[in-house]
Amino acid sequence: MNMYSTSEERVDGHPVHAAVDTVRTSLEHLVKLIDDGAHTDLGAFGLVETLQQWENLRNTMPVIDRALIQHGVDQGHPGVLSERTMIGVLKNGLRISAGEAIRRVRAAEHLAERTSMVGEPLPPIREHLAAAQRDGTVTPEQVSLIDQTLRKVSHCDPERIAMGEELLVEQAGKLGYQELTVFAARLAEAIDPDGILPCDEKAQQDRRYLRLRRRGDGCWAGEFVLTGTAGQKLANLLSPLTKPQSNTVQPDNEDGTPGKKHLLEDERSPAQRKHDAFETLLDALLRGQDVPASGGTPATVLINISWEEFCREFGMGTYADGTPVSARTARDLADQAEIAWCVKAPKGAVLDLYRDRRIASYAQTLALYARDLGCSFPGCDVQPQWCERHHIVAWQDGGNTNIGNLTLVCSFHHHQFAKHGWQCRINADGLPEWIPPTWIDPLQRPILNHRITINNWHPQDTLDLDGADEPDPPDLPEPPDPLGPPGPSDPPSSSGGPRPERAPRTTEAP
Ligand SMILES: [Zn+2]
Repeated sequence: MNMYSTSEERVDGHPVHAAVDTVRTSLEHLVKLIDDGAHTDLGAFGLVETLQQWENLRNTMPVIDRALIQHGVDQGHPGVLSERTMIGVLKNGLRISAGEAIRRVRAAEHLAERTSMVGEPLPPIREHLAAAQRDGTVTPEQVSLIDQTLRKVSHCDPERIAMGEELLVEQAGKLGYQELTVFAARLAEAIDPDGILPCDEKAQQDRRYLRLRRRGDGCWAGEFVLTGTAGQKLANLLSPLTKPQSNTVQPDNEDGTPGKKHLLEDERSPAQRKHDAFETLLDALLRGQDVPASGGTPATVLINISWEEFCREFGMGTYADGTPVSARTARDLADQAEIAWCVKAPKGAVLDLYRDRRIASYAQTLALYARDLGCSFPGCDVQPQWCERHHIVAWQDGGNTNIGNLTLVCSFHHHQFAKHGWQCRINADGLPEWIPPTWIDPLQRPILNHRITINNWHPQDTLDLDGADEPDPPDLPEPPDPLGPPGPSDPPSSSGGPRPERAPRTTEAP
């Protein structure tokens, strides 16, 4: 039941109502077509095209909401409806959650066209974002993300904010949601270098907790909020142990001869696998063992950060999954662990350091983690710990085992890409790019995984900030020799906590 349907102010036959009715008629026609199976001959590409066309339409719909909502706010309509705010009107009138109502009202605040005090029309506060929404090129999720990011830096120079808005809108048309989140965090950092991050990390400290209780059925339940660093450590420990385990089995036939081999899929749910991984960790701790290794690499927290930023404790890097981390936190982590150095060229290529001829060494694997950051196949976001090392030119065809001939790929893409005509190569920037088959792109333009592009993107360069208020850069210590001992900031031992015994294994290359 609509709680406002008894209002006496109903306007029958209003042109807006009539237009909504027209849309409804068209929609009913479309539903009927789909019901009758008109979509069944579209084929894979036709299907995606239809989904995109439909999504574009859906993305445009909030233009109507934002105008109606903002008009209601401006005119004080909530009061007429005995509500304090428009949020209450939406919540009760549309039966949506308070969170969703708040999201819509906030979006309207910044995206709706406005009227000046003297009644002149004004453009929306987020002009670029509003225009993209009208074109249907940004999803409601992306709109919220972009608006929230820009709110965090609202105290900064309006010109920088507007430039940031334009960049975010442009990237929203190309990037997946997760990648846009990383892009947005880095852009906010560039707009307000000493603002957001330390404050966010302080907020993380305040919010952290862990609760555990035993339930009546003997199981244990609990919940936690971890700080960025604690979460990253746990995720890195669990991730390699969470991989699905499929086994090849070969049961005997009734006459005792070996039967047909077949694959037993891992039937555990992702959450169950995570639980089992957690228990494996606990077992290892109780037995005083090292954490089980996977893919030849012990559990490792990997941080991508420029040498300059690391030394100056300024700016930020990213964890392997793209989560931002401040330079200061990176230094804190480095105090408690050994550091393996890996030098990258400005565009992200790892300079070729190791020439192990047999299998990819620990150091090479780390270098691949740092360069590829996960499966390098376009659009894939599988984490590095789950990936396999792929020789671009096969070993038997004379391909070397060095990082100029290796890339990380998840096992799915490892087994699929050749079958479907994709080819991988290392481009002029030293990065792994993929050439699609002609039936996907007749021009066969190479594609670089967005994750790599974003991680090597330097927002300061893009924003072309004048840097007038920046202090002169202090002299930096020389970057470490990657083949030498991990010297530079041999962490002060006063930071407490024993350091791992294991020798730095980056030095083992011949
Ligand atoms: Zn993949």
